[in-house]
Amino acid sequence: MDRIYMDNAATTAIAPEALAAMLPCFGQVYGNASSIHSTGRDARKPLEEARRKVADALGAKPAEIYFTSGGSESDNWAIKGAAFGNRRKGNHIITSAIEHHAVLHTCQWLEKQGFEVTYLPVDEYGLVDPKAVEAAITDKTILISIMAANNEIGTIEPIAEIGKIAKAHHVIFHCDAVQAVGAIPVNVDAWNVDMLSLSGHKFHGPKGVGALYIRTGTKVDQFLHGGAQERGKRASTENLPGIVGMSVALEKAVNNLEENGVRLTYLRDKLIKGILDNIPYTRLNGHPMQRLPGNVNVSILYIEGEALLLRLDLAGVAASSGSACTSGSLDPSHVLLAIGLPHEVAHGSLRLSLSDVNTEEEVDEVIRELPKIVSTLRSMSPMYDDFLQGKQLTAK
Ligand SMILES: *Cc1c(COP(=O)(O)O)cnc(C)c1O
Repeated sequence: MDRIYMDNAATTAIAPEALAAMLPCFGQVYGNASSIHSTGRDARKPLEEARRKVADALGAKPAEIYFTSGGSESDNWAIKGAAFGNRRKGNHIITSAIEHHAVLHTCQWLEKQGFEVTYLPVDEYGLVDPKAVEAAITDKTILISIMAANNEIGTIEPIAEIGKIAKAHHVIFHCDAVQAVGAIPVNVDAWNVDMLSLSGHKFHGPKGVGALYIRTGTKVDQFLHGGAQERGKRASTENLPGIVGMSVALEKAVNNLEENGVRLTYLRDKLIKGILDNIPYTRLNGHPMQRLPGNVNVSILYIEGEALLLRLDLAGVAASSGSACTSGSLDPSHVLLAIGLPHEVAHGSLRLSLSDVNTEEEVDEVIRELPKIVSTLRSMSPMYDDFLQGKQLTAK
């Protein structure tokens, strides 16, 4: 059996169309897009075409798209740029407890620089309450940063509602849409966002390239200083192959958004049902409906997620656990803790993330294999032994 890749929230395989579009940019189109000679202009043309494609995918203007090195840079730029660019107005930032570390660690660093950050809690499904966002706004608030969809549990946040509130209070609104772009409809005007982060490798584009949407008129400091690239806002010679590949992958993802969404939702729900029905003592994490079409996240009690991942890998299935991002540490995921899971339950979590390259046969195969692996692991688990002897799983 071929390997089954169900870790598409971590990264995706590059789309053949994207790869094909990139290859000439590693070859004959080698010019510097800032050069005025024809070799430079040969590079400028595909660069601006890519910018238009990315803008179209978001309902934005090309002049509002800034290419970056990925989702992490876009998040860093948006948050630090807005913080320092609006320091005279205030020092308060609102975000959520379940953001990606690119947002959370940036906010924590800003706290050391004298900014104040409110980390809003989420409910049991991982939803941010727009009313809580509004209640947190003070006359010092300069930025709200809330993700569109969570990378671990797939919950889709009420971004349009939060956007309305941010606009009414004249607070800059940044959205980490890295998991949403290419997976669900994204429109910067419908969402009322002022800044939006995306990353190529999450939608079958190349790694090391992303973009930040910045609405015209948004006050945000420059992040990378140097040359005049990206209208003087982001120095460094453009990564033309990456940018072109990303734009082609995004165009394809958006063209197939509806069809893929329907198919992936079906596969997702089949996988969730197959796991919950066939393995006792399991629970679904994240919102049952308001979730990314490709995201499955379950807690399988009385096992260790890491051990499960290794066994799955031996069986040819690539997945991710609830503590994947902190490898080497035993801390469970901040997202799973924020939705109220006890440590033990969070440790037994499994994320299977699908993309349009996954098939129903693969889903069926995982539904067949996973229960066997879980029962083997449980048969060796002291936690499960204790449980069978009537001891309760303790919540720390
Ligand atoms: C992957 C991811 C990022 C980081 O993107 P990179 O391009 O890998 O730097 C940021 N936010 C979310 C929600 C992500 O899933």
